[in-house]
Amino acid sequence: MTSCIFCKIIAKGEIPSTEVYEDDNVYAFLDNSPSSIGHTLVVPKKHYENLFDIPDAELGILGARVKKVARAVKDALKADGINISMNNGRAAGQVVFHAHIHIIPRFNDDIFSHGKERKQYRDGEMVEIASKIRKSF
Ligand code: 5GP
Ligand code: ZN
Repeated sequence: MTSCIFCKIIAKGEIPSTEVYEDDNVYAFLDNSPSSIGHTLVVPKKHYENLFDIPDAELGILGARVKKVARAVKDALKADGINISMNNGRAAGQVVFHAHIHIIPRFNDDIFSHGKERKQYRDGEMVEIASKIRKSF
């Protein structure tokens, strides 16, 4: 889909991203306005608007990839826990209408406002964190 920002990110053309994982089915990259450091998005390579558009057979693969990426994020960030979420529809907070799963590292002592407050990476930190996660597969 030519107007979709996540399709553009997957195509690795005009919109750069910080890659964490890629295979034939999914692309995973760091959210650039993260709820916590290491917040990763797992995106099916095919353009589906939300959960309800994804065929059941592909959901199985997507679920397995989310688990795989979440494990690497957890190990790399030494997170105590992981939130996995998906916003489906504007009313549910979906802003980018290409289906994606949020993987959010959590810590025993963190203060978390369920996505309302976003963190900022310092210069070079995004590349550093993505590289750490890539090494954790
Ligand atoms: P949604 O609210 O649709 O579930 O989440 C969309 C997410 O995509 C947001 O957390 C937002 O920060 C992230 N996002 C939006 N545009 C870009 C982008 O161009 N690059 C990256 N890395 N993340 C983006
Ligand atoms: Zn798309």
